[in-house]
Order: sequence, then structure tokens, then C-alpha cells
Amino acid sequence: MKYHITDDCIACGQCQSECPTDCITEGDIYVIDANECIGCGSCADVCPTGACEPIE
Ligand code: SF4
Ligand code: SF4
Repeated sequence: MKYHITDDCIACGQCQSECPTDCITEGDIYVIDANECIGCGSCADVCPTGACEPIE
């Protein structure tokens, strides 16, 4: 399973510090590098808007 970040992202940055593979990049909307994502769900656990969602 991989995760991605939807338009609900408010760029709070909480997911980035939780990611064990450091695959989340800062931006107006944060972006997950699917090649590096291991599907741990840590980003989704801390995201205040539910913007981190599984995609496969
Ligand atoms: Fe990082 Fe885990 Fe979120 Fe993938 S699911 S982006 S590895 S915190
Ligand atoms: Fe965006 Fe959620 Fe990450 Fe905050 S925790 S930067 S709202 S995806």
C-alpha cells in the first residue's frame, strides 16, 4: 500500500516529521514520493485534515 496527499492538505508539516523514510516533500500541498513510501500510515495518523490517504 502507498499513500498520497490530497487537496485537503493545509501544509502544516506534521506528516513530514513522522515519516520514517523521509519521503514527504514540503509545498503548498505536501507531496509523497510513492517510490519511497512503505505504507506505514504514520502520516495519516497525525494529519489533522485526513489528507493522507492510501492509494493502492
Ligand atoms: Fe511516509 Fe509512512 Fe506516510 Fe508513506 S505511509 S508517506 S512511509 S509516513
Ligand atoms: Fe498536509 Fe496533513 Fe501533512 Fe499537514 S499532516 S502537511 S495537512 S498532509
